[in-house]
Amino acid sequence: EIAQCLVGSEMCIRDRLRHRPGYRRVSPRGKRHEKPCGPVFQYRRRMQTLGEKTKFQDLYSEKQCSCSEEPIGMDKLNTKYLMNRFDLKPNKALGQNFIDDRGALESIVDGADIDGKGVLEIGAGLGTMTRMLSKRARHVVSVEIDRGLEQVLSFALEGCDNVTMLFSDFLKCDLSLIHEMLKGETIDVVANLPYYVTTPICMRLLKSGLPIESMTLMLQSEAAARFFAQPSCRAYGPLAVISQYQYTASKLIDLPPESYYPMPEVESTVVKLTRIHGREGFNKLCRLCALVFANRRKTIQNNLISGGIPREEALAACAQCGVPPSARAEAIAVDSLAALAAALFD
Ligand code: SAM
Repeated sequence: EIAQCLVGSEMCIRDRLRHRPGYRRVSPRGKRHEKPCGPVFQYRRRMQTLGEKTKFQDLYSEKQCSCSEEPIGMDKLNTKYLMNRFDLKPNKALGQNFIDDRGALESIVDGADIDGKGVLEIGAGLGTMTRMLSKRARHVVSVEIDRGLEQVLSFALEGCDNVTMLFSDFLKCDLSLIHEMLKGETIDVVANLPYYVTTPICMRLLKSGLPIESMTLMLQSEAAARFFAQPSCRAYGPLAVISQYQYTASKLIDLPPESYYPMPEVESTVVKLTRIHGREGFNKLCRLCALVFANRRKTIQNNLISGGIPREEALAACAQCGVPPSARAEAIAVDSLAALAAALFD
């Protein structure tokens, strides 16, 4: 497993040794020594245990560095290193909390299950996740709003020929262009979402009409709760209804603030949404949600009437679907709301 990771990776072993990343300092009997702990050495140890030392040597000589000064090694895909090198300051207004936890990144990319697929990433940031995605996906289109990250991204994504960067606001960009770039096939979304704009981005994805098979989203735990929320919960609203109608949600991992740089003030959760096929009437449900959640304190009946639906029609549709017109939308299950939408907007 480790051999595969090395051979297929961009890691430059010679430089890894020279720069000594992945070393930790140990001090046996008062003397300071350096003890390797990176994957290269785990691999060597494993090979030695198996009595196959030569395999490591073959791998080592095969991977002699042909690059000039600083290769883009995995160790270089380190948030603080990249920020220092390119003299970057995270832009809080753009929700720039960069992931700084390699283990978490690996779990997210593994959980996203994107091998050979067309991937859409929102917010490339410093490119650490983008680079990992490019190793597994067939093609990655990454949309990033901040042009100030262009330089660091061209460094971090050097050699990633299957990545297309799109510098644009995801909320305004042309989605059909993204679909075209991904060669018209199904799309899997992977994103560490900027917190300030999580809901509009999720809504745009859900309503996009793109053939999105799955969405692996890193977001504030409170926002993640909406994908699981049941009627009468605080988190139950249009996003919960619309997402649960089309996708089943599962939680991959929780991430503490320490997994990011700079640290956000909140906990994060990685959620994977997987498409439920064969659901009709999605647009009608969106239309209904816009009406019945327009004023959360009002009853369904009053919201429908305020939205221009004649009283008799509203009452008849509610009766047909067994939805109490005097209830609030937040108390009604997704399937009942879908039935109401179908009855109203036939
Ligand atoms: N993917 C990177 C990571 O995991 O470290 C960065 C994640 S950071 C939380 C969110 C990124 O989204 C930032 O790079 C930010 O500039 C970008 N961003 C913010 N608003 C955006 C928008 N409307 N459209 C596209 N990208 C946006």
